[in-house]
Amino acid sequence: MDAGVLNLDTLLLVQICVTLLTTALLVASACYTQSPPEQRWWAVGNVAVSVGMTLGNFDSVPVFINSALSYGVIAFGLALVLRGLRVYCASSLSWTSIAIITAIAVLVAAYYSLGEPSLRARLCFSGFYFALLNWICAAAVARHGSWRVSGIAVAGFTLLGLALFLRGLHMVVDADPADDASSLVIGLSALVVPLAQVCIAFGLIQMVMWRYAERLRRLSTLDALTAALNRAGLEVQGKRMFLRAQRAQRSIAVIMIDVDNFKVINDSYGHPVGDEVLRHLARVVKVELRPHDVLARFGGEEFVLVLDGVDLASAVRVAERVRARIEQEAVSLDKLTVNYTASMGVVCSDQHDYDLIRLISAGDAAMYEAKRAGRNRVAAG
Ligand code: GH3
Ligand code: MG
Ligand code: MG
Repeated sequence: MDAGVLNLDTLLLVQICVTLLTTALLVASACYTQSPPEQRWWAVGNVAVSVGMTLGNFDSVPVFINSALSYGVIAFGLALVLRGLRVYCASSLSWTSIAIITAIAVLVAAYYSLGEPSLRARLCFSGFYFALLNWICAAAVARHGSWRVSGIAVAGFTLLGLALFLRGLHMVVDADPADDASSLVIGLSALVVPLAQVCIAFGLIQMVMWRYAERLRRLSTLDALTAALNRAGLEVQGKRMFLRAQRAQRSIAVIMIDVDNFKVINDSYGHPVGDEVLRHLARVVKVELRPHDVLARFGGEEFVLVLDGVDLASAVRVAERVRARIEQEAVSLDKLTVNYTASMGVVCSDQHDYDLIRLISAGDAAMYEAKRAGRNRVAAG
């Protein structure tokens, strides 16, 4: 391929347009009410990079502004983007680190424009340094979360780093930096940079979208008090479990759990203590859960436990263990210590059918049997 195919002026124009568009996209998404802080860092960082690139393109300004200041602003912008990525990954990047990243760019560029002027050395440095910063950004995202969520952003930062690195390398190898226009490397990198910028902008927005989607899923399927599934979550996950168990002809057991005399606990100690009892019960049950088991809060103080591949006798043993722990462990809140008990009804698909709703109502009946028999006990149905 000939470098002439890649018209450098056109590519530079495309690059400027893409930079402005992706920056506008990130700024617009950060303006959305209650956008997470990382989005604001990404937006401000991209604005800074755009400003820095614009400063670098003004030939009429003094060389110090043209190089040192523009490199400093670009490095500052990249450091802010990195800070946003760290915030997204539940950590941060200190202002000292941001200042160091910026200062290195300013000092080296100032040295090569005022101390020992060399356009070639300056372009080498900027290529390698900005490549390094982009790769640090790629590593920060890659270390955290799944590729499905962050793959596009990682690819974008890696690609941008590669294009900038090649630019730097080209300056080391090429004897005459003024002869850029004919260079295939410069042409290719001018083509790759906008592509990488688009990848980064969409990748970052996709990361935030995944997080929103995950938050919505949690809100709609989890009980806010105990973090057990709510009824909607139970319906979705329970149905899936029952289908799997039926297909594999495995037993599936349901344990209905109801706190004994919960109204008395609320009336005697107050609702916050009642709430703590519910949280405690969910914690105790979760200790018994295997990864594929399901715990759901079915109503006020009623919980459903679905155990895959467990027959009636084993489910009764699990229920008995949970009941004994609940009886033994005291719940403490604000210097108050409260003991409580729970009654449980255990049923299994071997005796009934592979039908969640029917097993729940059979389990409920067994649980009321346990209540009638004096509470704090397990009854099988
Ligand atoms: P039994 O042993 O027969 O089950 O008696 P109980 O008192 O546990 O049952 P009852 O149905 O009479 O009372 C349930 C109480 O649970 C009434 C309601 O105010 C309370 N409750 C429901 N949801 C919550 C909640 O989220 N937090 C608190 N603290 N109380 C709740
Ligand atoms: Mg109760
Ligand atoms: Mg009840």
